[in-house]
Amino acid sequence: MLFGTNGVRGKFSELNPELAVKLSQAIGIYFGRGKILVARDGRLTGECLKNAVISGLQSVGCEVIDLDYASAPTAEFSLKKLNGDGLIIITASHNPPEWNALKVVDKNGVTVSRERGEKIEKLMSTISICNWDQVKPSKRYPQATMEHIEAIKKFLKPEKFKNLKVVLDCGNGMAALIAPKLFRELGCEIVTLNSNVDGNFPGRPSEPSESNLNDLKKSVISLGAACGIAWDGDGDRVVLIDEKGQFIVGDKVYAISVIIKLAEKKGNFVTTVATSKCIQDLVEAGGCKLIYTKIGAPYLSEEFLHGKAIMGGEEVGGVIWPEISLAKDGFMTAAKIVELLSDKKLSVLLDSVPAYFNQKIKIEANDEKKVRIMESAKVYAKKNRLKVTDIDGIRVDFKDSWVIIRPSGTENYIRIFAEAKTNAQALQLIDEYKKAVL
Ligand code: MG
Repeated sequence: MLFGTNGVRGKFSELNPELAVKLSQAIGIYFGRGKILVARDGRLTGECLKNAVISGLQSVGCEVIDLDYASAPTAEFSLKKLNGDGLIIITASHNPPEWNALKVVDKNGVTVSRERGEKIEKLMSTISICNWDQVKPSKRYPQATMEHIEAIKKFLKPEKFKNLKVVLDCGNGMAALIAPKLFRELGCEIVTLNSNVDGNFPGRPSEPSESNLNDLKKSVISLGAACGIAWDGDGDRVVLIDEKGQFIVGDKVYAISVIIKLAEKKGNFVTTVATSKCIQDLVEAGGCKLIYTKIGAPYLSEEFLHGKAIMGGEEVGGVIWPEISLAKDGFMTAAKIVELLSDKKLSVLLDSVPAYFNQKIKIEANDEKKVRIMESAKVYAKKNRLKVTDIDGIRVDFKDSWVIIRPSGTENYIRIFAEAKTNAQALQLIDEYKKAVL
């Protein structure tokens, strides 16, 4: 099984050029040998894998548009703009530098999930290459980032950005291509950290977790900036630092985005079953409905195709703005939040997000034990007549708390995560469910 939730990921010894050629041939056939866009991030193996991907696509008769360096949201925006039949992004997002991945997106802008990836893997054993005279030259498309910036600016009021000082931590990733230009054009005073693309990620690891953002926190405070902004390696996720130097976790980035969207229009919102209840509280207080999906970006985007969702988001700081594309867009998200800061400080904005505390544990479990634990969780919830959501693990909701029991797809663990109005209540939930399932 090669496909995970977000494409095929591996170190260079596993995801090597030979595999990249074969996978891309199968992907090209899966997408009807049509027009396929290819983008990559700044990882050291990126160019080598990109050449293999393009070669694989060309060998089955695809027309290739080569975006080369582009953030993931930029590539997905271009897919829609250029009306492509599919997209392959060569990026390992927030993983360490020795990793890379092929992320595959269909013509609707939906990332190919593990389930659909299986179909592509089956095609790998029956590849037929095209005739020599059907091999088409690839075309470069250097204006993708500029067009993405222009599209984002259409949804913003430039006068709101004047005199705002923001610190941008691009983490040596793809944000460096777009974020400084976007915020400068909007009229902000910007200070940048790690704003050169470097596949060794010398400035900080590409995961924007709190412990990796100490330089950003210090800069925000010493410069008296309105906020600090940090992206992951491919720029789909974003986290913030408020004017006091406090880290703002991914759920809350989504929560502020929900507040922004509710002020513009009404409709359905989408999130995964692992997201903080603060989202449900905000959406329902705004008279709208929240739809829960399985964990993973593909499932969020899929919901837009058969529903009337106006926004989607997940717990790690990825927000989908369908007016731009069905991809999580860390640049649109950051710009929409900064737009509010001329009227309200970021820490004050956060006061309107309902506060919850969370706790989590991991229980070691092989496949057999995983099945047993999940069955016990089901029986326990049923016996106590609890409100259960079982689309991904078992989530049990109470009035102002919830708990989820979920087996890891890749590791020998079951995770229990609880959220409540106090730390003590969250701990108590964890204890109760640990006892109930073991
Ligand atoms: Mg990412």
